[in-house]
Amino acid sequence: MVKNYGMLIDVDKCTGCYNCFLACRDEHYGNDFSPISLAQPFTGHFWMQIIERERGKYPKVKVSFVPKPCMHCDDPPCAKASVNQAIYQRPDGIVIIDPEKSAGQKQILSSCPHRVIFWNEEKNIPQKCTLCAHLIDDGWKEPRCVEACPTGALLFGDLNDPESEISRLWTSKKAEALHPEFELKPRVKYIGIPKRFVAGTLYLKDRDACAENAKVTLTGGGKKQTVRTNNFGDFEFEDLGESEDFTLKVEYPGYAPQSFKVQTKLDVYLGEILLKRSSER
Ligand code: SF4
Ligand code: SF4
Repeated sequence: MVKNYGMLIDVDKCTGCYNCFLACRDEHYGNDFSPISLAQPFTGHFWMQIIERERGKYPKVKVSFVPKPCMHCDDPPCAKASVNQAIYQRPDGIVIIDPEKSAGQKQILSSCPHRVIFWNEEKNIPQKCTLCAHLIDDGWKEPRCVEACPTGALLFGDLNDPESEISRLWTSKKAEALHPEFELKPRVKYIGIPKRFVAGTLYLKDRDACAENAKVTLTGGGKKQTVRTNNFGDFEFEDLGESEDFTLKVEYPGYAPQSFKVQTKLDVYLGEILLKRSSER
């Protein structure tokens, strides 16, 4: 059966160690794999990028690392922008820039909305991730980046094989495109893409103590969610939609409940919320 390759990236598992980037450099710098790819230049190429995403503000700051190779789209605008079929998709799904045919075709660079194509000045060609097709054709099970990842954040495999781990996860609700709005049918999907969060800390003013186990309810985005504060009085709601309106309600026995309107244009940290005794109202 024809292979049907895909890659699944679990952002929650990525520590930003750059091993995948270095493995890619090790494989492709100075090495020609014609007709699939020619050598990467010494500088300026990031066939596997690590995008650092910082969210929130002090003291509630979160950092995520989002590995980003070529998405190997099934409907790739880069191929449409190329002349003489210099970019083509193989039957197994891998999108390749032909190093000979693409010579001089600088217009290809701006065709990719993901900006994952790089220009090789010396060779006068556009270049990008090949999913190490030269190795896969030699019987390797996975590209060098996947092999090098110490945390298992990168998963590669045959989507036609129902027994493969990637097949099992590929159709789960959690797997999504990095930029679904581009509508390019990418063969690289993600789990755990950072979304918006709403967080805060509840404090019992009269007792000068954290409000542990307080009830916090967030309503909006079509659902109602409830969490309990931890022993520092902290609460957090993750995976919220962008630019949505929510109502947050905090409750603690014997203390007056409070409500807040929040909007997730950015991540929201409400800071310290002081709870007052009901009798003080
Ligand atoms: S991510 Fe960009 S370079 Fe890769 S196949 Fe899609 S359009 Fe082409
Ligand atoms: S090797 Fe794995 S953990 Fe390290 S940056 Fe790459 S994807 Fe993240």
